[in-house]
Amino acid sequence: MRHDPRCFLSLRTCCFLWSTWPWRGGTPAGVHGEKHTATHLLNFALKTVLGPSVHQRGSHVSADRLRFDFTVKGSLSVSQLQQVETCVNDIVSANQIVYSQEVPLQSARSIRGLRTVDEVYPDPVRVVAVAVPVSELLDNGTDRQTSVELCCGTHLLKTGAIEDLVIVSERQMVKGISRIIAVTGQEATRAREAGQVLSEEVDSLAARLTDSAHCSFDSAQRFAKEIGVLSDTVDTTPIPQWQRRELQLRLRALQRSSNTAVRKLETREAAGNAQALLEKHGRKVLLVDTLDTDSLSVVMKTVNQVSALAPLSFVMLLAHQRHSGKVLCACQVPKDANSLPASDWALAVCSHLGGTAGGTAVVAKGTGSSSDITEALRWAEEFARQKTQR
Ligand SMILES: [Zn+2]
Repeated sequence: MRHDPRCFLSLRTCCFLWSTWPWRGGTPAGVHGEKHTATHLLNFALKTVLGPSVHQRGSHVSADRLRFDFTVKGSLSVSQLQQVETCVNDIVSANQIVYSQEVPLQSARSIRGLRTVDEVYPDPVRVVAVAVPVSELLDNGTDRQTSVELCCGTHLLKTGAIEDLVIVSERQMVKGISRIIAVTGQEATRAREAGQVLSEEVDSLAARLTDSAHCSFDSAQRFAKEIGVLSDTVDTTPIPQWQRRELQLRLRALQRSSNTAVRKLETREAAGNAQALLEKHGRKVLLVDTLDTDSLSVVMKTVNQVSALAPLSFVMLLAHQRHSGKVLCACQVPKDANSLPASDWALAVCSHLGGTAGGTAVVAKGTGSSSDITEALRWAEEFARQKTQR
């Protein structure tokens, strides 16, 4: 029953304090009434959608949001989140009256649908019910399912003042207990608007993927980066949680398609590079050259493809990455080339360039930095010549 911001206490302690406060009967500050009433509706909606096994494990309201912990087997599905939100908002738009009445504890216990916990309640106890007068519930003459709780907190007079409720977060805190964060009123409107904007952004990214299928490597990489940025925004912006889950799924699918497109383009570019290098050098033993690319993956793939076509060559390629100023390095050597393992070669060159490298005896890659790539090239070739001629 910890609904009120002051109410971190048990219901008994809370009600005791309440009864001793000078403003009893009035509305102390009253600022959180809207979220407190919304908390009751949320509790009711969760039970309605997920069943009676839902039990409140704690709640807290602050000026800008409400938090609600409850027992549930796993995280809620998109459809369950939507149903809970709809259930609350139906009661909000019906602008139901919030009734409250102090009644003898014994009578309160007889109210259908009211859950009493192992707590010592004050007597008389305050009953808060939405849409149905407490007296009607006491007569037991109604079968209407409604929100009814023992509570001392501050409440709205009518549910319409909540305006709107949006669940902006739901996750399992520990196995079997979920935490919901929800916003109401203008915050809720803003969350819906933000969700709409992000949804449109995902639509437009998806349309671009099918439209262009990425003619160039650069545009494909830019696209992948945009997906990453949008994913971060979707993860962190307060939007409806059901929508976040949907958008995250779509973005992950887009990310996969985009990665596949990038890999295809890399392979195609590497094939062209390998062809050009072999035309320039032939299948000579020591093939060391530069490549015009910003991608270490393209350097590596080109080295692989050259080696596949010239299996007896020691191949190393360096590239100057424009945006970082780094030198990218990859190499591959013939199998059983004990004179110069690829990892030694790459490490020597990258260390010479103030960086580092790693790999196996056959293939390796790394990075360094140099403003003079021609010097680096000469150094790499000379190092390999000494090793292989020994
Ligand atoms: Zn309450």
